[in-house]
Amino acid sequence: MNIENKIASQERTIDTIKSDARFKPTDAVRLNNMFRGRSTNEMLQSVFEDGLAGDIALVSSFGAESAILLHLIAQINRDIPVIFLDTDKHFPETLAYRDLLVERFGLNLVNLTPKLSDIEKQDSNGLRWSFDPDGCCHIRKILPLEKEMAKYDASISGRKGFQSKTRNALPRFEIDTTDTQGRLKINPLADWSKEQLDGYIAEHDLPPHPLVEQGYPSIGCSPCTSKVAEGEDPRSGRWKGWDKVECGIHEPTNRPLDDGANDPIF
Ligand code: SF4
Repeated sequence: MNIENKIASQERTIDTIKSDARFKPTDAVRLNNMFRGRSTNEMLQSVFEDGLAGDIALVSSFGAESAILLHLIAQINRDIPVIFLDTDKHFPETLAYRDLLVERFGLNLVNLTPKLSDIEKQDSNGLRWSFDPDGCCHIRKILPLEKEMAKYDASISGRKGFQSKTRNALPRFEIDTTDTQGRLKINPLADWSKEQLDGYIAEHDLPPHPLVEQGYPSIGCSPCTSKVAEGEDPRSGRWKGWDKVECGIHEPTNRPLDDGANDPIF
């Protein structure tokens, strides 16, 4: 996609040749400027209708606040593929919640599972998370997503700026740095506050993830998700006791699979 031509074509009709489906950092800057001050809904509608981001997939964890983005997208385009990384380590409550939202919103679910041969070779007893969580995420999340995302020019994520110290300067548009493909990453909720999220849930009567009321404000795989005390960083319950803060699908972990264990924090 040539984003400059796409934006210019809103003013005059020109022919474009789709010779390169990837984006440059300047494209992300231009899109952030273009949609500054415009609502999330307007931004998403324009991105889809005008094809500003090429072929798009939404990646959802079906976690604590996932219903908001899934509902927003479903109102605009139900054909968008919704990718779920089915690691085989999720809470049963998350799988039930996924099925409930897919049914209720009419989502186009793509359920990705890890490659069986990778599991057999690298995690045959299913305990890799306990001594090498980066390696476990690599097999169960990063590799399946990398393969699937080869089909797309952009992904949509539900990350919010307020979620943690590592996400507080999150832009709406950025370049996906987890590989060298130059895909666009769209964060429609980047600037939403907790109050806005709660307001949207109430306004649309969205069903909550059943584990939120049990003390889990951020929910991932069951072995790597702990309860969080009142006032703590909502993501502090993820990989508790490790120096790991992201699974690697948003930020590169820069750790090859055979690098050994991560560094536990004692
Ligand atoms: S979050 Fe934990 S269980 Fe899930 S893939 Fe990563 S290390 Fe493995």
